[in-house]
Amino acid sequence: MKHVDEAKINALLEIKTTEKEVVDILEKTKQLKRLSLEESAKLLSVEEPDLLQKIYAVASYVKNTIYGKRVVLFVPLYISNFCANSCVYCGFASSDKLTVRKKLTFDEIKEQTRVLLKRGHKRILMVAGDMGQSKENIDYYVGAVKAIYSADYKGNKVRRVNVNVAPMSVENFKKLKEAGIGTYQIFQETYHETTYRNLHVAGAKIDPDNRLDAIDNAFRAGIDDIGIGPLLELYKSNFEILAMLMHIEYLEKTYGLGPHTISVPRIEPAPGSDYASKPEYPITDEEFKKIVSILRLSVPYTGIIMSTRETAELRDILVNLGVSQISAESKVTPGGYEENSVHNDKLERQFSVNDQRSLNEIVKSLLLQGFIPSFCAACYRKNRTGENFMDLAKPGEIKRICDINALVTLKEFLEDFAIPEVKELGYKLIEEHKATLDNTSTNILEKFFSDIDNGVRDEYV
Ligand code: SAM
Repeated sequence: MKHVDEAKINALLEIKTTEKEVVDILEKTKQLKRLSLEESAKLLSVEEPDLLQKIYAVASYVKNTIYGKRVVLFVPLYISNFCANSCVYCGFASSDKLTVRKKLTFDEIKEQTRVLLKRGHKRILMVAGDMGQSKENIDYYVGAVKAIYSADYKGNKVRRVNVNVAPMSVENFKKLKEAGIGTYQIFQETYHETTYRNLHVAGAKIDPDNRLDAIDNAFRAGIDDIGIGPLLELYKSNFEILAMLMHIEYLEKTYGLGPHTISVPRIEPAPGSDYASKPEYPITDEEFKKIVSILRLSVPYTGIIMSTRETAELRDILVNLGVSQISAESKVTPGGYEENSVHNDKLERQFSVNDQRSLNEIVKSLLLQGFIPSFCAACYRKNRTGENFMDLAKPGEIKRICDINALVTLKEFLEDFAIPEVKELGYKLIEEHKATLDNTSTNILEKFFSDIDNGVRDEYV
């Protein structure tokens, strides 16, 4: 597999570390410095409970220092479950003849989006199975992105569409970029070549380099916000993390830029897949917490995304340790958000979802923990993507901008979509948070707040 030196990773996995070394590495991370592969390997080798607690504490410190209290919320929108590939763990596998296949029309996509707008969502992750790269399919993806942006609920519009679709050529990525996508997201699934080849048995996906090349193609097409990740539990998690960090080193060396986000999905049961109910390398919640914390420390400026595959309880813990974006009320079925749903969720869904809370419930839980639920999409709309974003993120400047935008989008949510209890909690948090801002930020915020009270929406810095 390209960019992954298995022998080197296996050697790194043999490294044992001392308490002193771990403490020294943690000191370095407190200065928000990126870690070397060897340093990350040393942290991954830690098993001792007291040292793990220290890692969690510093991860939480780093998260708070760079990202502040905001947590960005998004929702996936599945537009099609047709798939040419056969991944043994996936409910969309082409070999599964029971799955009912569905490709939404542009009108249906618009209607699904309207339902999501009505609940308060502003950021959408568009997802599809691998439909192939024919002109018709690329036109479909482009049309789908446009349909999402065109949807309207009482003047509310989607502000950012990220996409998770199969690899494509530079030319085709350019078409997606022109349609206005934010992040292009693709998971390598596993960075371990033998495992990869065993688990992907049909379609273009059988070639592991095909997915790695997709990221290069996206960068070359000018999409500079890229989301990557391993699908955990397919192979040894420490191997996957180090291999992904090695992949990131390659991207940084080649494009001067790493991924915008990392996702760490774990396998969930899936219709038609025995494998998904019993993955070969299960990881406990404790191990998962350790992985998220070490990622936060290894690549402090990269967003970490946590999906509804995880339980509400665990997600509440992980936002403290490093997660900066979470999905909410996800349906992993094309057409899953219809108000009077007639689809068969069991047969069309990709995998099981554990956090079933509504957006209001998730917002409430974040507020109770002192977090600012954010629907902000300002960076991408202000061209603060890729290197521009990193230039701001590194000196800590992004936190000031994020605080203002997060509070503005929170107030919009409270006014337009929150249930009374959440509204009350939200305004309490806004007041507490306002007290921590400098004068310039407070003045900008007051102006935006009074505009919201006068009916203006969608202002940002
Ligand atoms: N066609 C796109 C592609 O080629 O990447 C999207 C694939 S799929 C719809 C999105 C992601 O879901 C996959 O990349 C995989 O990581 C994840 N996934 C598949 N089966 C899963 C399962 N059983 N549990 C958790 N995640 C799963």
